This record gives sequence, C-alpha cells and structure tokens, in this order.
Amino acid sequence: MKQYLSDRIQSLPTSQTLAMAAKARELKAAGKDIISLSLGEPDFNTPDFIKDAAIKAINDNYNSYTPVDGYVELKEAICEKFYRDNGLRYNPNQIVVSTGAKQSIANVAQVLLNPGDEILLPAPYWVSYSAIATLCEAKFVEIPSTIDNNFKITPEQLEAAISPKTKMVFFNSPNNPSGTIYSESEFRALAKVLEKYPDIFILSDEIYEHINYGKKPFSFAAIESMYDRTITVNGLAKAFAMTGWRIGYIGAPEWIAKACTKMQGQITSGANCIAQRAAITAVLAPVEKIQYMVDTFESRRNMVLDLLGKIKGFTLNIPDGAFYIFPDISDFFGKTINGVTIQNANDFSMFLLEKANVATVTGDAFGAPNCIRISYAASEAQLKEAITRIKNVLA
Ligand code: GLU
Repeated sequence: MKQYLSDRIQSLPTSQTLAMAAKARELKAAGKDIISLSLGEPDFNTPDFIKDAAIKAINDNYNSYTPVDGYVELKEAICEKFYRDNGLRYNPNQIVVSTGAKQSIANVAQVLLNPGDEILLPAPYWVSYSAIATLCEAKFVEIPSTIDNNFKITPEQLEAAISPKTKMVFFNSPNNPSGTIYSESEFRALAKVLEKYPDIFILSDEIYEHINYGKKPFSFAAIESMYDRTITVNGLAKAFAMTGWRIGYIGAPEWIAKACTKMQGQITSGANCIAQRAAITAVLAPVEKIQYMVDTFESRRNMVLDLLGKIKGFTLNIPDGAFYIFPDISDFFGKTINGVTIQNANDFSMFLLEKANVATVTGDAFGAPNCIRISYAASEAQLKEAITRIKNVLA
C-alpha cells in the first residue's frame, strides 16, 4: 500500500528523537529494564500555579475556538516577556501562538521557503529543522562544527556557506543537542556577515533560553540590523515542564506573522484554548519560579560530565545550557566490543540500547556523525545507573 503514499511523506525521515523514545517505550512494555535518555523532556511536573490557571480556564468555560494567532491577552503577555527577558520590542500583531515551537518553525518555513531555496544549518542542529526544510522542498546546507570549538561556527564558515539560493539561516542557542550558547559578541560577528546579504532571513530558536547555567543567552533579534529579518521562536515546553501542553510562539516582522496566521488558519485553527490561558500565567511568572528545575539540571549536568569523563573514549564539551550531553564517541569506531563491531554513532547508540539497556540518540540525526546525544532530563538515580551500565558494557 506504500505506493499510494505521497512522494512528500515518503521522502520525509522519521523524527529520530521521537523514534528512539518510542522504541524505548516499546521495549519497556515488553518487560525490558530500559533507561531512556533519548527524549528531551523535563521529568518535572508542570508547576502548580500553571496547572491552577488551566483548571480555572476550564471552569471559566474557555472552550471555544481562539483567535487563530492566539488570545490577545496571551500575545500581550508574550510581548511583555520578550521585553523583560530579551530586550525585544514586539507588538501583539507580531506574535503568533502555535501548537508547540515545532509548529511555529514549520509555519515560518512554509511561508518563507520555495522549492530549491537553501537554508543554512549550523551543525549539530535539532532533528526536525532539516525535515521541515525537506517538507518545503528546500535544501538544507550543513555548516559543520567540532567539539574542540565547543560546537560553534565561525563568521568565515557562515560566509563560505552562503550562495545566491540561501534564503534562511537557523540559529539555536542554547543548542539542542550540544548545549552551546553563543555570546553576544559571537552573534554580532555572525550578524556582520549577514548584513551584507539583505535577502537572508534568520530563525532564532530560543526554546532553551531559561535552561542555562550562568551564561545568559542573547537574542539574535536584539541586533538592530537583524531585527527586521529575524523570527524569534520560543515556547513553554522546556522551561515550564509543559511539553505535552503544546504551546510555542514567534515574534516576527508583522508581514511574516500575518502569513503564519494564514497558514495556521488552514491547518490547526490555532492552539488549544486551555493551554493558552495557562500560558498567560506561565510567561508572566518571574523566572525565579522555575529556577529550582534549572538548578537541578545543572547539578545533574555536573554529575553526568564527571561520570562520563571517567569512561575512556568519551570526549566531552561543557554544555552551558539545555539538558543534553553530546559526547564525541568516534574513538570507538572500528572497534569490536562485546562481540559487536562499532562502525558509526548509530551502531554505538544501538549497542548501548541492546547491551546496556540505555536509550540515547545517534548524532547522525543532528548532522554530527561522531557523537551521540544523552538527555539528562532524568533522575539522578537513573542517570547514575545508566552510566554505570554504559561503563560496564564498554569495559
Ligand atoms: N525537542 C525534544 C528533543 O529533541 C523533543 C522531541 C522532539 O520533538 O524532537 O528530544
């Protein structure tokens, strides 16, 4: 029956993060003692003050369609948040609320990209960027980085990757999967290059903004010359432990926001009404209210780095944000361990799943074939146990 499926869906890769999480779930259901460090999902509950706002919204009978681009009170709250946290001035006409930041990004890509356009992806990059480009029949061009440079690209690399077909560049700081945060001066240096190419648009995915360990992320749109062609993406999933609530949003030039609203109006009609009401409370909450989660992530990061650092063959950088470790494990390539020959990161990730019962995600999915991604959004006990298992099967 597969032949009946469209070329579009047949050429679309499955999301490797979601696929690995599903595989881990399946194995667990079959009775295997799997520790899943695959999905980037906070293991906290949504804070009570946000849950209360949702319950109130249900009792207040918020049950109708919302405006396609989101409740006006939510868009105003988002404008306030953008100014408070990022120094960005947006008005509500520049905001579009969507069903998760993933939909926000897909909307932007759909409204800006034509078949044959190129988007630049500094690698490593989040799995869905490339897939979203593919859906638009655009071509993604990877700009590689290495762990020695803390997974950052240089202005020279950016310039070299630009072609007459380049339409967009995606930045993601703090980065999923590397945890890298670009400093203001590093972003300004990249912007200097882009100033020479006025037809290139920038998507700045800032979903991990609040999960940083002291280095405050800088918003690309805060660079004056970039404001008019930058789309700032953010959402509630990561910082507020609200992955399943599915609320993402953009701040963008008004004509882009309008186009995204038109797109969304034909696809979802808008984001869930209860989640939007709760989101008003979440985005206006002082950041201190979620600091306990960030502190916990930081101490887990330190623990995981310490434990993995003791395993020969793992090369590590120190992630400044998000909740992933992205070790270079290419030392293991070509080796036979426990009867299994490891040729690449995919083999290594499968080896850990089969022999250690630990689920990770291969770096290939992120455009970094020497690495694997380990999410530390799991309890300390689980993390310790997972790393002990990894150590034992590699011994
Ligand atoms: N963004 C998370 C991750 O990278 C959630 C899964 C997804 O949507 O890719 O694991």
